[in-house]
Amino acid sequence: MFSYRHAFHAGNHADVLKHTVLIAALQHLTEKEAALMVLDTHAGAGLYRLDGDYAKTSAEAADGIQRLTVPGAAHVPLAPALQSYIDLVRSFNAGASTKIYPGSPFIIQRLLRSHDKLKLFELHPSDMRALVGNVAQLEAGRQVAVLHEDGFEGVKKFLPPPSRRALVLCDPSYEIKTDYGKVLDMVQDGLKRFATGTYAIWYPIIPRPEAHDLPRRLKTMAQKAGKSWLHATLTVKSSKITETLEGQSKRPGLPASGMFLINPPYTLKETLKEALPQMVQWLGQDRNAAHTLESGS
Ligand code: SAM
Repeated sequence: MFSYRHAFHAGNHADVLKHTVLIAALQHLTEKEAALMVLDTHAGAGLYRLDGDYAKTSAEAADGIQRLTVPGAAHVPLAPALQSYIDLVRSFNAGASTKIYPGSPFIIQRLLRSHDKLKLFELHPSDMRALVGNVAQLEAGRQVAVLHEDGFEGVKKFLPPPSRRALVLCDPSYEIKTDYGKVLDMVQDGLKRFATGTYAIWYPIIPRPEAHDLPRRLKTMAQKAGKSWLHATLTVKSSKITETLEGQSKRPGLPASGMFLINPPYTLKETLKEALPQMVQWLGQDRNAAHTLESGS
């Protein structure tokens, strides 16, 4: 079984990028009255305690969301997309400090209208149990369905959705390198079933050929299908392996990640143009911190 648990990483810089993009996309997609279906292929546990054992062990949120929400931080006016993200995370917390971090299922559900639908896929038994328990508290009734299934395969039965409007968020752990190929197959198949859906794929930027190939292949796929696309990346530090004083090699942890969208909302590029430089400013850890933003149609 998998060893990846998102609780170690909740609220890190990759979540800041992913969830800011997700919120901006959903805000646009829910402007139209027609019902929207959101498919979250890799849902995780839904809610995370940043003061719990998992998060405290890795302390990744300290260099992510907590840089933006500690009292006194971000007193300059923030880009609207980043402000919406912070406001949404804050709405899950009673006091000034950020102890609870909402994962994608809770972020999405918060932005849906009563006639929209959310399908959540999660394969890990412990995360599945936590997700079921967390979702039950929402009392969202039939709006939210939790499926203990492989998300890559499970989306197929919901495409195309009855309302002909859908966002597919695909956020695997890439723990096994076959995930990269599965993402491509899922998007290719999704476009055949439902060509006008919005597909949003998160991926890590790490020294692995599959990770570099993924956005290139998604771009080729979008271009061949005649679809618009958007690609945003955020780098917070160097990817170089360093040496400790004791002569041990030290891996830097995840240095960068990207979001690739096919059929993105047309407003997204302008929205991110403002937000990404601020993410670099607030989350950057060394002079390698940078962002990129590209699109095409
Ligand atoms: N999307 C979540 C968020 O933003 O809060 C985080 C998801 S985490 C990066 C990936 C999750 O996918 C893990 O909880 C893992 O157990 C689960 N998983 C791994 N392979 C899966 C598969 N084939 N289908 C569904 N879930 C899977």
